Amino acid sequence: MATHKLLLLPGDGIGPEVMAEVRRVLAVIERKGLIAFEIDEDLVGGSAYDVHGKAISDEAVAKAHAADAVLLGAVGGPKWDGVAYEHRPEAGLLRLRKDLELFANLRPAICYPALADASALKRELVDGLDLMIVRELTGGVYFGEPKEITDLPNGQKRAVDTQVYETYEIERIAEVAFELARVRGNRVTSAEKRNVMKSGLLWNQVVTATHAQGYEDVKLDHMLADALGMQLVRAPKQFDVIVTDNLFGDILSDVASMLTGSLGMLPSASLGAEDPVTGKRKALYEPVHGSAPDIAGKGVANPLAMIASLAMALKYSLGKPDLADTLDRAIAAVLANGYRTGDIYVEGAKRVGTAEMGEAVAAAFDKLLAA
Ligand code: NAD
Repeated sequence: MATHKLLLLPGDGIGPEVMAEVRRVLAVIERKGLIAFEIDEDLVGGSAYDVHGKAISDEAVAKAHAADAVLLGAVGGPKWDGVAYEHRPEAGLLRLRKDLELFANLRPAICYPALADASALKRELVDGLDLMIVRELTGGVYFGEPKEITDLPNGQKRAVDTQVYETYEIERIAEVAFELARVRGNRVTSAEKRNVMKSGLLWNQVVTATHAQGYEDVKLDHMLADALGMQLVRAPKQFDVIVTDNLFGDILSDVASMLTGSLGMLPSASLGAEDPVTGKRKALYEPVHGSAPDIAGKGVANPLAMIASLAMALKYSLGKPDLADTLDRAIAAVLANGYRTGDIYVEGAKRVGTAEMGEAVAAAFDKLLAA
């Protein structure tokens, strides 16, 4: 059996608490002999700053390069508010994204039936929702030059941000979306603003051309990004994979995430280019939430976003989609049995802490695997 290298970076605040529950699930997989892991752990964020004087060490970055998948908890906290800008905890995360060239950000929006009432939308609109937003992460208007504020002779100011995309950037994100769709519902919706933006026109053309080069088995639709925003809250279940640029992806993925209830439920993945030799992609998996300093150390954080991030790693980096589905079913079963951490608690449910929730998922996972 091939050995898979995992790097765990628990980070700060509730990061180590939720990562401990990932370890519990990994132990089940190992005990059953389903995957052989080589697991390493290192520091990131404020905890790395305290030891190394910077938010991630070069050794940790080298380990991330060598890993099949990196799992990160969260970084940041008030303790490091006064740290120099280049050493702030987020710098560790940004360095990882940059060094591993993670250009594709994957944010699933899954609504577990047991949590459908926590959504801002009506139950019937979100019950069973399972969509994936693929956001371009390293290009577009957040990085394009010029990017400046200048003084005008009349005393006013002028601000410029530049939306730039080149063919290769659109091609590679479209490929990620098509490949993902193949292991999901086989449909991609591409969103841009080709009616008013040249970059939108190029986006549309390149996605269409990429589709024609070997992805015709996947159904492709195009939608204007504003219309897609409207459809996302009108009838979200119509979507499978949505691919879009950095700016629209930032906004649309936040909208989609709130369709499903709590921040403590949302996993994410960031992927890099495919290695031409091994066919593997560099990959970082992390919950969408932060380090939650207000509840850190209390043992009450919801570990499900972190565990669901492991499920994504099993599916997209470790070649185990069946195991990932089983883990997702274990999460759904535990929720259906009424287990709730404080953030998703409802009257009459069984209120549990981080470890109890992790234990329940590990036990349900174990049971499903034995079935
Ligand atoms: P946050 O996500 O940490 O917390 C927002 C709210 O949600 C808090 O009330 C928190 O208690 C709650 N919450 C978050 N995750 C939870 C979980 N798993 N279970 C239960 N409740 C949960 O966002 P914030 O408060 O804006 O930021 C706190 C710190 O985290 C800051 O230092 C920020 O910079 C950092 N941050 C890091 C990341 C990251 O590591 N990717 C992302 C966002 C924020």
